[in-house]
Amino acid sequence: MRRDLIEFAANLASLAVVLGSLIKRRRLKRKPMSVKTIAVIVAMEAEAAPLIEHLGLKKQEKSPFAGPLPAVVFSGAVGDATVHVCTNGPARGFGVDSVGTVPAALTAYQACEALEPDLLVNAGTAGGFKAKGGVVGDVYLATAFKNHDRRIQIPGFDVYGVGAADAAACPNLRAAMGFKAGVVSTGNSLDCPDVDRDALAANDASVKEMEAAGIAHVAAMFDTPFIAVKAITDIVDGDKPTHDEFLQNLGAAAKALQAAVPKVLEFVAGKKLAEL
Ligand code: SAH
Repeated sequence: MRRDLIEFAANLASLAVVLGSLIKRRRLKRKPMSVKTIAVIVAMEAEAAPLIEHLGLKKQEKSPFAGPLPAVVFSGAVGDATVHVCTNGPARGFGVDSVGTVPAALTAYQACEALEPDLLVNAGTAGGFKAKGGVVGDVYLATAFKNHDRRIQIPGFDVYGVGAADAAACPNLRAAMGFKAGVVSTGNSLDCPDVDRDALAANDASVKEMEAAGIAHVAAMFDTPFIAVKAITDIVDGDKPTHDEFLQNLGAAAKALQAAVPKVLEFVAGKKLAEL
């Protein structure tokens, strides 16, 4: 009886070793020599449309993602790389795009799992700050990602709440693009009450939007390098109501993204991560 138990335990241990090495091998396989596959996560269809057209990407009629996720994937080639632009898709029952951190993280998770990108990119519109020199139409390449609406005043959880994560190091890309650099701060609201305003200042934010930190959370999980390109539609500390300014400038900002994102993709395609 005891011998059986010992044998059983030994079998279990060797199974664990085999499984462990298989998982390790899968992880190792994911470490790329160069950027061959890129997943670009975009929240809104209107933000993505000019980019998809410009790159000549084709919609994947059968979603590569598991389950009922409404994300839509458009794929094609840029230089030596395969590019997948993933929009979060419509929110079931609401008839609008799935903006915000939860849909962004779900799309990013599925993208990392199914598409195995060597680089994850988030492109979208965002609010800028007059106090940081921001103007409508600016394009930012994020330096870091933080949350401004996760206030958890318990030691350890306070730091987790902000969830600061650095963007992938890409000094050559920065120099070549000449975009503005700054911290992208994420929250689940378009408006900006005083409590968020204080948190944005504490985060040293140059850019305010609703997805990037959620995607950074997933990128860290998969150990996938992550960068974000954000075009400014509205000025958070300006005089106009954000909603009006956003709608007025969405088309122009989508065009700015259309100009900026392909340049980024062309630069990174086929390069080693260390060359970015
Ligand atoms: N479609 C809505 C607005 C969408 S929410 C409307 O018609 O009013 C705003 C989207 O744009 C989000 O995906 C967010 O990431 C980005 N965004 C642009 N400006 C923003 C700001 N000032 N604050 C937060 N998110 C902003």
